[in-house]
Amino acid sequence: MDLLKAASLEQALDFLEAHPGARILAGGTDLVIELRKKKAHPAALLDISSVEELKTVTEENGRWRLGAALTYGELLEAALPEGLSGLKQAARQVGSPQIRNTATVGGNVCNSSPAADIVPPFLALDARLRLASRQSGQTVERVVPLSGFFTGKGHNCLLPGELLREIEFGPVAPGAELVFEKLGLREALAISRICLAVYAEPAGDGLGKVRIASGSLGETGQREPETEDVLTNQLLDDEHIARAQTVLSEACARRLAGRSTLPFKREAVMGLLGHALRTLNLRRDNQ
Ligand SMILES: Cc1cc2nc3c(=O)[nH]c(=O)nc-3n(C[C@H](O)[C@H](O)[C@H](O)COP(=O)(O)OP(=O)(O)OC[C@H]3O[C@@H](n4cnc5c(N)ncnc54)[C@H](O)[C@@H]3O)c2cc1C
Repeated sequence: MDLLKAASLEQALDFLEAHPGARILAGGTDLVIELRKKKAHPAALLDISSVEELKTVTEENGRWRLGAALTYGELLEAALPEGLSGLKQAARQVGSPQIRNTATVGGNVCNSSPAADIVPPFLALDARLRLASRQSGQTVERVVPLSGFFTGKGHNCLLPGELLREIEFGPVAPGAELVFEKLGLREALAISRICLAVYAEPAGDGLGKVRIASGSLGETGQREPETEDVLTNQLLDDEHIARAQTVLSEACARRLAGRSTLPFKREAVMGLLGHALRTLNLRRDNQ
């Protein structure tokens, strides 16, 4: 098997052009398990864990770009806006300290599991993915919305020879908040049973734009547009919170019809959303 530990993005893309069937190894916390279980038989492996260009955090005119090979530990060190603490909350709750120091945000997105923790916060931020490849020696990039990236459980629209370079989002409105909630099986090593991210912009005494995304409530992480509609341009009072909880629970029931987990998940998601929205209210009161 051909194996390259790339030292630069250019070298990584050259290798992918020469080996379009190669699998990309970032932290390896998902891929190595696949290889060990003989569920993957790649002809070549490209290790991107030392590519510095894939570990940068930059901001320009309010638009943020996070390198795909940032580990959760590195994300936790990044100087992100205070209101986006939900992104760090999600990173802090992934696996154990060893996992957080190895596993990457790009690996979580590209593994495309419905239980991927970092996906709902990025969906709630309306993130876009910058994908790069090399064609006839030229670097080619395309940008796709994260909401359109997943094509099914464990599947996405990455093409052979393409890698995820950066995750972009913003601008983030003044006073906007991102809240993350997770209900896991057990602390520290839990793969998320359900997670939820809520992004809200303030407007007067209430909310303006609202984006909500869930994990483990379907085949992929996804936005929850019907629940967003209940809260957008409304006061965040008990009535709207209760209505949003009901609408999300009903969406969950339609999506998970016939699954044994449905009774638990449709109840649990109401609790998670209620907690997220009350956290949002508390933060707004303290601003
Ligand atoms: C004990 C344990 C606990 C865990 N806990 C959690 C948890 O709480 N929450 C959670 O969400 N996940 C959890 N995971 C899963 C895993 O750690 C995450 O999904 C992690 O973010 C994957 O990142 P990685 O860098 O290790 O990916 P890798 O295993 O290196 O790659 C995963 C997939 O993405 C592809 N890939 C990686 N980077 C790129 C790129 N830049 N471009 C294109 N393709 C790419 C790889 O080819 C592979 O298909 C856990 C795993 C373990 C072993």
